[in-house]
Amino acid sequence: MLTLPGDAVRQIQWRFADRFDLQMLVQSARGVARGTVARMVAAGERNTHEWTPGKNEMLEAFDRAGITAIFMEPEEGGFIAGPKNLALSLAAFELAWVDGGAATASLAGFLALSPIHERGTQEQANHYMSLSAPPQPGEDRKPWRGAFVLTEPIPYVGVDTGMLSGKLRVAEWKDGEEPWLQVDKRGRFITNIAFANFVTAAVNSDDPRIKGSCVVILEDTDEGTFDHGTPTKKLVHQLSSTGDPIFNLKVPASRIVGGYTVKDGVIVPNFNHGEIIEAVFRRTRVTVGLMTAAKLLSAVEPVIRYQRERFRGAEGAKPGSIRYEQGIQQREDALHRLVDVWATGEAATSLGFATARLFDELDPIEKEKTAILKERGIQGGRAEMKALKESELRAIELLSLDPTDPRRAELESDPLVQFVLRDAEGNVLCPATKLWNTGHGTNVLREAVSLMGGYGITEDCPGFLANKWMDAQLEATYEGPEAVQRRQLTVTMTSEVFLAEFRTWMAEMRHIASEHPGTGACTLASAMQMWLWTLSHLQKTTDSNGSKLYHGQRQGVTFPLADALCWLLASRCQILDVLELEARGGDDAVASEGLEATVQFLSDLCHTQAAQAAGEVSRICAELVFGYNEHPHWKDEEHSGCFLASELAELEDTMPGISAMAVDVVTENGSHPQKAGPCADCSGNSEFLRLQNKLTTCLSGSRLAKDRAAETVARVMIPEALDYPA
Ligand SMILES: Cc1cc2nc3c(=O)[nH]c(=O)nc-3n(C[C@H](O)[C@H](O)[C@H](O)COP(=O)(O)OP(=O)(O)OC[C@H]3O[C@@H](n4cnc5c(N)ncnc54)[C@H](O)[C@@H]3O)c2cc1C
Repeated sequence: MLTLPGDAVRQIQWRFADRFDLQMLVQSARGVARGTVARMVAAGERNTHEWTPGKNEMLEAFDRAGITAIFMEPEEGGFIAGPKNLALSLAAFELAWVDGGAATASLAGFLALSPIHERGTQEQANHYMSLSAPPQPGEDRKPWRGAFVLTEPIPYVGVDTGMLSGKLRVAEWKDGEEPWLQVDKRGRFITNIAFANFVTAAVNSDDPRIKGSCVVILEDTDEGTFDHGTPTKKLVHQLSSTGDPIFNLKVPASRIVGGYTVKDGVIVPNFNHGEIIEAVFRRTRVTVGLMTAAKLLSAVEPVIRYQRERFRGAEGAKPGSIRYEQGIQQREDALHRLVDVWATGEAATSLGFATARLFDELDPIEKEKTAILKERGIQGGRAEMKALKESELRAIELLSLDPTDPRRAELESDPLVQFVLRDAEGNVLCPATKLWNTGHGTNVLREAVSLMGGYGITEDCPGFLANKWMDAQLEATYEGPEAVQRRQLTVTMTSEVFLAEFRTWMAEMRHIASEHPGTGACTLASAMQMWLWTLSHLQKTTDSNGSKLYHGQRQGVTFPLADALCWLLASRCQILDVLELEARGGDDAVASEGLEATVQFLSDLCHTQAAQAAGEVSRICAELVFGYNEHPHWKDEEHSGCFLASELAELEDTMPGISAMAVDVVTENGSHPQKAGPCADCSGNSEFLRLQNKLTTCLSGSRLAKDRAAETVARVMIPEALDYPA
């Protein structure tokens, strides 16, 4: 591979080669990121918590570049028609390539609008989208900026969104007129708050005339207090605004997101706050995961440059010498570690964009599902779950059918079947993207920083790597930290529909492996098999005290299993993206140049990553399968796994040499070898050991792939200088 993978390669891998609108969006977001934003970071604009005129100019740059308009439909002032998950992800990716705070500042406005977009009434959507769209040329108007207000001062809502302290009461309700509501809400860590004109806030009823909870829209000109609060003293993302606002406002009931009905004199919101938040986070968390992925890939070029130039200028390092030309890249470990960072970045990005695309597919199907069920008189909640049960069975049936089965066509054309399939996938891929990309991604960013030595933890470090490392920790925290994602995965990854899909993915990986053995697909399939076996085993097994292993409260079992799954999903998406490049790259004039070498390198990264994923899965699963069995003790009455010395002497007559093989021998006086107890036997788990054995041998070739990737990293050409300032 001669040069770093360029736009033409990425557009094919991440599937927007046929979307000119998205390609233009990437270019304009990149212009702002590597221009305005990079200059601000280099000039030290991150050194203050205050909202400065400079930071405000960044928002205006977003407006001019069309970034603020991504979320809107063309009739609302936007320029992209249809689902926008991929578009939003691409823009966030470009901004986070330079600065996470800038990306967050662009996304937070969309987060504020998301409750309205997902569940708002048509009037609410039209009103707030249009107000928030950037002005058209010749239009003299400042766009409204919004903030999303869920989190409250401790001890209330944070991870546990059910514990709301924000209150909603009826302020005035005249006969035949719309009620007025009194909203009392305090926020904690609210992004965009310094300049927000409106917020969408989660509140609970504190009045018998209002049922449950809801999300309300508050404006800064509403009657009462709209206090933007003091800025949070953040160590990260300083280009976004964060603070703790206080609201005490009187608003009309029409501000309840999604509207309400009145039943027996009680205001019943059409959607409670939990339903709205679920619909919102489902999409917005994907973009956050992609922000960390961008940071990982953005680290590659600065690290290569640093490694190569490390000894230039020293007396012993004359131009042309290995020391001068290759610097630290003479050393295998430095190259291998960079390969690991790069492979993680590829996998995280592939997972994130695959999830964004999935939501683009899901959005219209979800609307169709809602319309079909509405026609049948079913709207949300348990009734909907019940109604979709049959579609789930049909979806599982579809997945089990032979490719030539005539029944496929009927099932495939059923929109409800299509919905449950994608829904089950999205329910897993979204938390997996957020969890793995940001959680594991942050750990790997530390590796990237360490590769730059002391320079890595200075403000001068090219690519702002130390900022990115710290910023990534916020990405792992906001919109629900890792526990929230793991909790969600614990439930969604055991859905029958998802597991049926997962089985087809396993078969798909074996098939890919037979045609592309160098991708690590076979290793991955074996690891997937082990994960599936372990899940099923844990679901029906108890620990040595007889307590159930797989259940919601037992996070020690369920959470690691969720982590293991994420490794598999990321690796799978990475492999699929490389296959896409191989299949389509030849049709593109730019991507086709040096395609074979690029595919080889990216396949080697896949193989490296698949091996790491297999190792993680094997480690986690082995610990869970064996770790809850009591280790045998020497004091146990029955030493089922042990020989008695006298027994061995007898056996030696018929099986000469057995004494040399026996490890757990107890002598006549009860003495035994110095160890914790007789070795545990594997009764009931021998299948696991067989899978583990197979998985271990599946690693063959993975280090050769890493060596090849490392050689490429040592040779690949990079530009003379980074295209944004340090
Ligand atoms: C810069 C910044 C910007 C933000 N922007 C916004 C915004 O715009 N709007 C908004 O509403 N909020 C915002 N937040 C809030 C953010 O979403 C929360 O901080 C986050 O969800 C974590 O909640 P918490 O801080 O209360 O953590 P805690 O709930 O106290 O969590 C602490 C630790 O305990 C673990 N934990 C918590 N519950 C469980 C559990 N049930 N099981 C296992 N482990 C658990 C967590 O994983 C975490 O490791 C922002 C936060 C920051 C820092």
